[in-house]
Amino acid sequence: MSVLKKQLAILEESITHQCLTSGRKREKITLIAVSKTKPLEMIREAYATGQRHFGENRMQELQEKAESLKYDDLQWHMIGTLQTNKIKFIAAHVHWIHSVFKVKQLNEINKRAAQHNRVINVLIQVNISDEPQKGGCKASEIDELLIHASTLEHVHTRGLMGMAKFTDNETSISNSFQLLQDLQQQHLKNHPNLTELSMGMSNDYVLALNKGSTMLRIGSSIFGRRI
Ligand SMILES: *Cc1c(COP(=O)(O)O)cnc(C)c1O
Repeated sequence: MSVLKKQLAILEESITHQCLTSGRKREKITLIAVSKTKPLEMIREAYATGQRHFGENRMQELQEKAESLKYDDLQWHMIGTLQTNKIKFIAAHVHWIHSVFKVKQLNEINKRAAQHNRVINVLIQVNISDEPQKGGCKASEIDELLIHASTLEHVHTRGLMGMAKFTDNETSISNSFQLLQDLQQQHLKNHPNLTELSMGMSNDYVLALNKGSTMLRIGSSIFGRRI
């Protein structure tokens, strides 16, 4: 078995185990293989094992990879900083954008998705770490974004995304994830489509699963370290 296949199998076993111990259903959780900086060959190999969701954090890289890999059932997730003027590069390809936290980004996604006759799934990124470089809106801004998004025909708002602080302190990480789950529950009342919670990376996905994550964004544990 190749290293990549082995890593995916180990991760799958861990997620399944975590679901069993926390009473979650495995099929309610989407594993996004974060393939940023990694070659097409590794994506093909992961696809061959059954992996269908892939995440990228640079728009041109997502565009190039999507144009090179023609798999009908592969879903691309944009998880990195959105430059509004580059949304046009990914609009034909991307299925999910996790990093939306400005009205002008929503408007541009809507406009470009319309040009391709598509609807793009969007998650609102919330800053749950108090680290400004991580991006995301404040909790108090979520409502305005959700209300605006609900007026856009080519944007489908599906949930919230957040990144915990980069720290070894598991309590601090869990508290951040708890905060995002609380915000989701709060807004679900008026926005019943807000069912997804994108949180958890290689180092903290177990904590995220315990706090209700439905989308794990995992890179290095699958593809190995990035240089
Ligand atoms: C790179 C990245 C990940 C994956 O990180 P790993 O630690 O490699 O699992 C997840 N989310 C975002 C937003 C990223 O940029």
